[in-house]
Amino acid sequence: MLVVLLPVQAYFCCSRGLMARYVFITGGVVSSLGKGLASAALGSLLQARGFSVRLRKLDPYLNVDPGTMSPFEHGEVFVTDDGAETDLDLGHYERFTGVSARKTDSVSSGRIYSNVLEKERRGAYLGKTIQVIPHVTNEIKDFIGVGDDEVDFMLCEIGGTVGDIEGLPFFEAIRQFAQDKPRGQCIFMHLTLLPYLAASGELKTKPTQHSVKELRSIGLQPDVLVCRSEHPIPDKERAKIALFCNVRPEAVIPAYDLRSIYEAPLAYHRVGLDQAVLDAFGISPAPRPDMTRWEDVMDRLTHAEGEVRVAIVGKYVQLEDAYKSIAEALTHGGMANRVKVKAEWIDAEIFENEDPAPHLERFHAILVPGGFGERGTEGKIRAAQFAREKGVPYLGICLGMQMAVIEAARNLAGVSDAGSEEFDHEAGEKRFTPVVYHLKEWVQGNHRVERKVTDDKGGTMRLGAYSAALKAGSRVAEVYGTTEIEERHRHRYEVDVKYREALEGCGLVFSGMSPDGRLPEIVEHKDHPWFIGVQFHPELKSKPFAPHPLFAGFVKAALAQSRLV
Ligand code: GLN
Repeated sequence: MLVVLLPVQAYFCCSRGLMARYVFITGGVVSSLGKGLASAALGSLLQARGFSVRLRKLDPYLNVDPGTMSPFEHGEVFVTDDGAETDLDLGHYERFTGVSARKTDSVSSGRIYSNVLEKERRGAYLGKTIQVIPHVTNEIKDFIGVGDDEVDFMLCEIGGTVGDIEGLPFFEAIRQFAQDKPRGQCIFMHLTLLPYLAASGELKTKPTQHSVKELRSIGLQPDVLVCRSEHPIPDKERAKIALFCNVRPEAVIPAYDLRSIYEAPLAYHRVGLDQAVLDAFGISPAPRPDMTRWEDVMDRLTHAEGEVRVAIVGKYVQLEDAYKSIAEALTHGGMANRVKVKAEWIDAEIFENEDPAPHLERFHAILVPGGFGERGTEGKIRAAQFAREKGVPYLGICLGMQMAVIEAARNLAGVSDAGSEEFDHEAGEKRFTPVVYHLKEWVQGNHRVERKVTDDKGGTMRLGAYSAALKAGSRVAEVYGTTEIEERHRHRYEVDVKYREALEGCGLVFSGMSPDGRLPEIVEHKDHPWFIGVQFHPELKSKPFAPHPLFAGFVKAALAQSRLV
């Protein structure tokens, strides 16, 4: 067989520099089908074939962004380099494609409406009656098209399921968008569920048929159908779905449960998802994929030796999605060391007033993640103390770093009432010496940012990427292998640099600072096997194929600890 490998540019010579091809991803039947994961996996498969991609999420809820939603409610808030608070699906997108998301990759109905209303007040539509069609749909279409000329494929996922009232303007907008573009520029991919009825031993296709019918009634015909199923889908059923849903049989893609989310690119490739998408665009012959990145990821995941146990001492322990990126970054850290990481979520409140040892002794490492509010913080401080005193590896992230500093201030530097201003603000009374204070003014790039305690709650934190200078010879400089880093932030409060001397005198080194030397970014205990607190969120930048050095280092330290005990 003669295989002619054409360079990718050959397909795009007429369109590159002009516009991207669009894949719109919708869902039906039930939520939580793994639409975000399917989108992310498709992105990685297109990359494996040499194409450039960008992924985008359109969410129908009315919050302007998810920043103000409780992690219990919505899972973690994923922060981008340019400081947007976004949906956790953007985390999946980044972890699968390595493409850094931007502000313009996440939008909600709330943001769209707020833009439209702001324009209306400015008089931008003067004389007109403002309506969902065309004003809201135009605003959505403008958003979808941002950066149209930068990539080969733009993948836009619509949150929620078809039929949701809130989703309608988005479905209408993508219908119009595809209509505005030349034919063949946009395709639609729809995810559904095939439930299995044990009593009759059958997979049922009717919900899928109804969901596609719903989609077609608003003018959207799917080109590719991804069908989640717990059981193998017989060819006969596949043909039936194709016939009733007006989709080609080879574009009915089965999606089975996987051992790990990182198996998704290989699994979707095996069942022909990327091929079906390229076929729908008429890209033929398709460039051959290079799957080595994902083969290596799976090899590391499936050939892990041994296990380390990590305690995550936090507040939002009921919903794992609240710390999604941390869980993933720990897995990546395990992959870097070819060891399985067993993370257990421990509610910090259980040992607020007692010795945490009985709860923490069986772990090889302790991680205290980010969080807001006072509840559970005394437990986190005790966890930091336990880790310091017992020589157990500790990674404190954001609030977890602040707690480690308060612990050292109280128990080593003699500031017995050390605390964070955050807790006093919440309680409305002054009870602590603020070792961690509310930051009201800082520098971002070339400009100064100012905030008041009473400012709006949405989007007013120190958000996004900031650089830090690491102290040469420190543990953290060794971990990173460099002294200049850039990491993502999301917080209002900061460790007060005026305690630096006192704390360093007790062995807590300020080993990473903002470039102007004002804001402590990293602390570490000098005489400890591995104790690091960081003011930022390293978990947001970790990838399965590029584990974050802090997580790789933390798991390595946990492994060393497991050999000791
Ligand atoms: N609540 C703390 C602050 O605002 C920490 C935030 C976080 O952990 N992301 O500074």
